[in-house]
Amino acid sequence: MRVDHAIRTRLLISVSQRVIANAEELTALDRAIGDGDHGINMRRGFEAVLTDVETLSAKTLGDALKGVGTTLVMKVGGASGPLYGTLFMALGKSLTEEITREAVADAFGQAIEAVKLRGKSDVGHKTMLDVLAPVHAVICAGGDDLPARLRATAQAAAQSTIPMKAIRGRASFLGERSVGHMDPGARSSALIIDAVADVMEGTA
Ligand code: ADP
Ligand code: MG
Repeated sequence: MRVDHAIRTRLLISVSQRVIANAEELTALDRAIGDGDHGINMRRGFEAVLTDVETLSAKTLGDALKGVGTTLVMKVGGASGPLYGTLFMALGKSLTEEITREAVADAFGQAIEAVKLRGKSDVGHKTMLDVLAPVHAVICAGGDDLPARLRATAQAAAQSTIPMKAIRGRASFLGERSVGHMDPGARSSALIIDAVADVMEGTA
């Protein structure tokens, strides 16, 4: 599949708008187990992506993703800025305009490893990784109805962070009291996957 200029534009707009539209929810989640800024941080980052959407989408897919990563590092702040920045920059490293499921699985796997390294974190720590890793497994497995399964997996994975005790990030300061709340970064990752699925299905 070729991720041409029109698709790159749709991807950037779809993801940015989804995050911005749900910023209040992300902030509310972060108010429960963090410092209440995740939505504010992410909205600032993706508003900057939207401002630059023409310049970014004119680049090759790899450079566009790297550009998104750089923008997020500069604008989001907090813990999530450098981590999402790392994710997008790592994705941009190997992806070319002509993508295959295998190439995306490979790039996504490397990007997850880069986030783990940067965050000294792993699956099960109640972070964005608890959504990104199961999504990666779905990409690796392939099969029919991939967008619908990506969407469902990301949604269920974000829900699965509710009973977890946070081991990394600000929420870990709460120890047992972090149990019973969805991780804000897991939710923002699920929103991003949902917006990508919309583009894959041709509805965004
Ligand atoms: P901060 O915690 O600095 O206020 P944000 O509120 O923007 O930053 O982002 C919090 C989210 O970042 C968490 O919900 C979690 O998903 C993610 N996060 C925090 N620390 C880590 C880490 N070490 N590894 C992976 N993700 C992390
Ligand atoms: Mg926060």
